[in-house]
Amino acid sequence: MPIPTIDNNRGMFFYGICGGVGCVDDAGCNSGGSGFCSSGSDGVSGGLGATDLDDGGSGGDKVLVESGVLLCAFQLGAGPAGIAIAACLNLLSIPNIVLEREDCIASLWKKKSYDRLKLHLAKKYCTLPHMPFPSHFPAFVSKYMFIQYLDNYVAQFNINPLYGRSVESASHDGGQKWKVEARNAGSGEMEVFEGRFLVVATGENCEGFVPKVLGLEGYGGELLHSSEYDNGKMYSGKDVLVVGCGNSGMEIAYDLCNCGARAAISVRSPVHILTKEMVQWGMSMLKYLPLYVVDKMLQTLANFQYGDLSHYGIQTPSKGPFHLKGTTGRSPVIDVGTVDKIKTGDIQVFPSIMSVNGDNIEFADGKTSRFQAIVFATGYKSNVRKWLKDDGALFNDDGMPVKKAPDHWKGENGLYCIGFARAGLFGISIDAQNIAEDINLILSQQKTVDQ
Ligand SMILES: Cc1cc2nc3c(=O)[nH]c(=O)nc-3n(C[C@H](O)[C@H](O)[C@H](O)COP(=O)(O)OP(=O)(O)OC[C@H]3O[C@@H](n4cnc5c(N)ncnc54)[C@H](O)[C@@H]3O)c2cc1C
Repeated sequence: MPIPTIDNNRGMFFYGICGGVGCVDDAGCNSGGSGFCSSGSDGVSGGLGATDLDDGGSGGDKVLVESGVLLCAFQLGAGPAGIAIAACLNLLSIPNIVLEREDCIASLWKKKSYDRLKLHLAKKYCTLPHMPFPSHFPAFVSKYMFIQYLDNYVAQFNINPLYGRSVESASHDGGQKWKVEARNAGSGEMEVFEGRFLVVATGENCEGFVPKVLGLEGYGGELLHSSEYDNGKMYSGKDVLVVGCGNSGMEIAYDLCNCGARAAISVRSPVHILTKEMVQWGMSMLKYLPLYVVDKMLQTLANFQYGDLSHYGIQTPSKGPFHLKGTTGRSPVIDVGTVDKIKTGDIQVFPSIMSVNGDNIEFADGKTSRFQAIVFATGYKSNVRKWLKDDGALFNDDGMPVKKAPDHWKGENGLYCIGFARAGLFGISIDAQNIAEDINLILSQQKTVDQ
């Protein structure tokens, strides 16, 4: 049975390690040290009494206890979304904890993105709440600078995620309690956390998606997802096919080509290709002009810049780029130089893959070609459906919100999601502020009722 102990110096609660209890150390709780409930694999969660909390909590007047359950928020995932909401809650002195399966914040950026990646959007559209990018950063920030910004962000707002906690289940008790079970990567034990609010911040991009392709299991070459690709050095002199013509696919094909690989790209769907300046200009114009007008102007500019790309196997959608972003979530591709290489023939374009036969890939136009490696830049998917129960239909079968933005972020029983609006870091920033304000309002109203 866990024994709650209080460290009065930091206002932290600990559960003693007895009976295989998951210990919560001082890296565990945000908001200047307030408690939360945790228990070990025996599944017994410690019921904290009000006295315990009054003695030990230092999270200000937002630290509440009801029926022995500490009212705090869990954020699942320490990507930009998880740390953004943690910062907003910390500023309101609302106790919260971030559970992260990896051993660092922003694992997508630190471990699963290619070297030459830069933010696709200008930095003013990519800030997290309450902390702008340093003025000496360029408009388009490299991934290394973005990581530096995120590391500074967690330091600035005193965010201390619990790492190595892979959430395997989250359910609601029908009262006022969310129960989260997370596997501790260090001990292998299942730990149980309980709290009033649950914020899902596990991301739209949390698992690499590879489509089913006939015969792929028998492919003799190297297969990888874009999240496993660092750079093209080891592919010099090789024939490499990139599947998918989104931002990652187009940039990886460019990188491979620059590194001396014979790169090809398989393009299935029509795509808008714009320069980063066009996107930035379009985003600022949206403040003054209707979306369809901005879209029309961008389509004209793109046509002027690149001409008719259908000669090279790339079709352009009839609907405009911002319309498609808003309705389907599909972003325009921001060209880093790939189009020039396609026009010079340095990067070949193929239609979609039909099947794989040994090292031979058969395409939709009936042609076949041989490749030594295939990089699937075919996107990501949410993993929410694997572990979240009792979500009150906040999420659909694909683990994405049922409601469209701006109504997507709030569910029932203190459940929220952040970073699922297909609106990138800009959307994350808005979600974080909405969710923190909502939790703050609920706690303030409850405090008034209790008095
Ligand atoms: C290559 C690439 C480039 C992008 N560039 C831009 C850009 O320039 N501008 C922009 O606005 N947006 C961009 N985005 C989109 C988006 O902003 C990023 O994907 C951003 O990282 C999303 O943040 P997030 O916190 O929602 O998700 P993530 O960064 O994916 O973080 C989710 C976290 O949750 C953790 N997690 C997942 N499941 C569990 C679990 N069961 N238990 C515990 N932890 C879990 C993961 O380990 C991860 O750390 C880009 C995306 C990609 C893939």
